Amino acid sequence: MRMAGTVLPALIAATILVFAAPAVVAGDGDAAPAQGNMQVASTGGGLAALFGGGRNLSGFRQHVNAGAIVVRKSTPTECLPGNLKGVLGQVAEEFGAVSVQSTHRSPQRNRRAGGAPQSLHLDCRAIDFRVDARGREVMAWLREHPDIGGLKMYRNGVIHIDNGARRTW
Ligand SMILES: [Zn+2]
Repeated sequence: MRMAGTVLPALIAATILVFAAPAVVAGDGDAAPAQGNMQVASTGGGLAALFGGGRNLSGFRQHVNAGAIVVRKSTPTECLPGNLKGVLGQVAEEFGAVSVQSTHRSPQRNRRAGGAPQSLHLDCRAIDFRVDARGREVMAWLREHPDIGGLKMYRNGVIHIDNGARRTW
């Protein structure tokens, strides 16, 4: 059974090579696509490439690759719960470009940001973001979303969502 752990990556690597080969041949002098972009590159053009295709990439990652979700440097997203990342992807599809301002915070960083002492940012269960759309419409949509607990729009337009209990403040 230990074999499975080594055979599978080898198979995946072989599969990537098989699929990569025609792309290189058909490149007509263009540089071969970087491996990290392969799934996006292979789904064809248009919105399908942005939102529909690339089954091996999470929806969140696809949106980041397509520029529909912009994440500030030093803002971690790997630790976020999948359903909150899914919400962000849906917001990007419904309303437009999303800019992630804050996710996980250390206690010091949370204090500097004026976060509550029990803030879910400390547990990487909260996202502050901006979206290029009318805030009231976005908030009305978010209020109907079953995956959202805490929900608040600040005066500067930043929207907070988390997966705790449903509440606002
Ligand atoms: Zn927040």
